[in-house]
Amino acid sequence: MKTPRPRTFLAAFALALLLATPPASTAQEIPSPEAFFGFRMGADRKLARWDKLVEYYRLLDRASDRIHVVEMGPSTLGNPFLAVWVSSPENLANLDEIQRMNALLSDPRGATQADIDAAIRDSKAVVVQSYGLHSTEVAASQSAAEILYEMATRDDDEMSRILANTVAIMIPCFNPDGEIIVTDWYNETVGTAAEGLGPPELYHHYIGHDNNRDAFMQNTAESRYGARILFREWVPQAYIDHHQMGAYGARMYVPPYAEPVRPEADPLVWREMSWYGAQIAYKEEEAGLSGIINDAVYSGWGHFGFHWITPFHNIAGMLTESASARLATPLYVQPDQLSGGARNLPRYEEQTNFPNPWPGGWWHVRDIVERQKVATFSTLDIAAKNRETVLRTAYLKASRQSERGAEGTPAAFVIPADQHDPLTMKKMVNKLLGQGIEVRRADAAFEHEGRAYGPGTYLVTMAQPKRGVIRWLLGQTFYPDNTWTRNADGSPIRPYDMSTDDLAEFMGVRVDPVETSPAATFAMVGDTVEAHGSVRRGSHGFLLDGRLNDAFKAVNMLWDEDVEVRRFVRRHGPHRPGDFWVENAPDSLVRRVADDTGVDFQAMDVDGGEAAPLLARQRVAMYQRYYGGNIDEGWTRWLLEDFSFPYTSLFDPELKAGNLKRTYDVIILPEDNLATMTGGRRPGAPDQPEYPAEFRSGFGDEGVAALEAFVRAGGTLVTLGRSGDLPMERFRLPVENVLDGLSSTEFWSPGSTLHVRVDNTDPLAYGMPDEALAVFLAGSQVYQLVPVAENQRASRPVTFVHRDILQSGWLLGEEHLADKAAVVSVELGEGTVVLIGFRAQHRAQTHGTYKLLFNALVSTPEM
Ligand SMILES: [Zn+2]
Repeated sequence: MKTPRPRTFLAAFALALLLATPPASTAQEIPSPEAFFGFRMGADRKLARWDKLVEYYRLLDRASDRIHVVEMGPSTLGNPFLAVWVSSPENLANLDEIQRMNALLSDPRGATQADIDAAIRDSKAVVVQSYGLHSTEVAASQSAAEILYEMATRDDDEMSRILANTVAIMIPCFNPDGEIIVTDWYNETVGTAAEGLGPPELYHHYIGHDNNRDAFMQNTAESRYGARILFREWVPQAYIDHHQMGAYGARMYVPPYAEPVRPEADPLVWREMSWYGAQIAYKEEEAGLSGIINDAVYSGWGHFGFHWITPFHNIAGMLTESASARLATPLYVQPDQLSGGARNLPRYEEQTNFPNPWPGGWWHVRDIVERQKVATFSTLDIAAKNRETVLRTAYLKASRQSERGAEGTPAAFVIPADQHDPLTMKKMVNKLLGQGIEVRRADAAFEHEGRAYGPGTYLVTMAQPKRGVIRWLLGQTFYPDNTWTRNADGSPIRPYDMSTDDLAEFMGVRVDPVETSPAATFAMVGDTVEAHGSVRRGSHGFLLDGRLNDAFKAVNMLWDEDVEVRRFVRRHGPHRPGDFWVENAPDSLVRRVADDTGVDFQAMDVDGGEAAPLLARQRVAMYQRYYGGNIDEGWTRWLLEDFSFPYTSLFDPELKAGNLKRTYDVIILPEDNLATMTGGRRPGAPDQPEYPAEFRSGFGDEGVAALEAFVRAGGTLVTLGRSGDLPMERFRLPVENVLDGLSSTEFWSPGSTLHVRVDNTDPLAYGMPDEALAVFLAGSQVYQLVPVAENQRASRPVTFVHRDILQSGWLLGEEHLADKAAVVSVELGEGTVVLIGFRAQHRAQTHGTYKLLFNALVSTPEM
């Protein structure tokens, strides 16, 4: 994605708005949300739909000179994604200059003290708040309308102070598609037995609730818009993401986070979070709103979603979490149903961080709206009252992190040009640029610390404000193992999400930490790194390097045009098993595919002969279910589309009807629980009423039999993670999960990268390096083959190494993994079951192991 320069971007929008909008009317004419929508925000059983909310925000934009609405672009499903700038008319007229001063304070390197002092004196505190990221947490997208209305119309001291001293950037709905999905579902089910249940499908078309696990990869449009504002174009001083949590604990969590924290942010950022949190909690109590807790529940080491990655961008990145009702339906809570049992709230009773427990009773969405309004305004007000302090702190955080980076080790990370998959390396560089990280490129070869680097090597120095982000995205990571992460009996406490978020390790990109910065000449890289493949036709057509993930995309694009593709199944001169051979294809098509994928079409001057048999395109299906959808299924859909694999979503009726081999060659079972897939148990609260019949899932014994018949008839079944239980338990496949029955003190590895050996002469591992990193989650599987008469009908293409298995994250009990299989392939009848025990395509982040899935989707005669 090409990013316009920030100032041009805003100026262009300002101009467009000026030309497009009729003269501003006065504040008195602005209808309240209640007048506009016909109900008060948060009213029982009422939800304003995103299209109406957009209409309202456009009205505010026209009617108020304090409100400046920018459409960032389309959402994943094509709905408008808005960001709203709110400040005094004078500040909005001076936005470019405020943005310039803000940029200077968030990266003061090279600035004079006079410039810094002037920016602190003259600029405004910039605070970003976002609402409605998680669409079933319905309150926030409603609160935002009332909040923006009050910002447009209130003239009291607090609001005047906020408008004069801050620039508030509001993302009124971080997932517009989901707001529509949930609102429509809710309206259809109000008054039925399903009232209050979440929608049967994912509320983000691809990634559901994982939409706040994407900030460091930016796979979705929504994440890219958020990243533009937070990481590149503004870099505010504070950020709050407003969420909801479970229904039976505290009424609202506010900052700061509890232990453990992820280290190496500037310490001031943690102090700021305590400071904002204390102010929010104070103002909630002042307003008589009970049940507020801070320094609890949510730990400071979380996933790298926006609110947890921003502290490493030197932004006070925070979260509020309000207790949920049942979508927009109120919930009655009995006093004895309220419980503690959370971090820093062992019992539901008064304590310093929770002095005013909510006593129970009816809980309405309106109760959440009230609390979110106070949190929003109190954050802005404390920034307004302490504008210069906030701005000086921004300067201190950025300059001190840069200094620490300049003095510490590693001094930098070198990303060598020589990579197993150089196109994936370029994707990683783009993801670093998407974080607003400075990246440099060497045009000439150089040597450094005993290693030789080719031209096209990239360098990321730590002497920059975003040192903290760089450290966690590129450096080896160990999750803390201490009293905060163990229960009293010694058993480990699960981290909030992953225990590492190492971009380089996930992507399979080699990155060298270096003690000193290289002396070679490097040029700063601009917005994005482009990759266009070269084309050189040989006497026998073209060769595509099978080590490139994007070679699969290229092959799919060629297949779309009915071009024949062959693949080497053994070494043949310079050609490796897995390389693709395209004997003949039109010039214009080859040029387009090379441009789109970055893959080089190399000259093929020999006949590959029998070493490279013809590939037949496989008909791929993937199981999809209801009950809220399966996030791993959604991510896998996203990935298949990204690499141009055609696929069919296979639902229960078709699956249960059987005869699957007639229609499909490969069926994927995404990571899921066996009981959920078969219908024995559904995810979520078991006490809730049942979904309407058309939204129930579970393919039962019929489905199991149909899948087994599919394999025995020659099909390939690919299971990801826990879905391996299905063939192991129900087909009686001679494979066991060696982790079955182990307690968490015996084995534990929640979200880590582990070292595996790869047999890349096995068709399932073609194109892989000899060694790789597997992303392993709680529930991932490790395989042992059970002795049978025909042991030769199984293969173990990927196995864990013998020792020192952990690269990053947390691993207890590595002896259980040593030398065991991470991936197995077992023949059954005429077909094959491929069990990928770890998360080879996790969240479309683990590029380093994509090929293990892709190979299973591509036919190979010897498989
Ligand atoms: Zn949430």
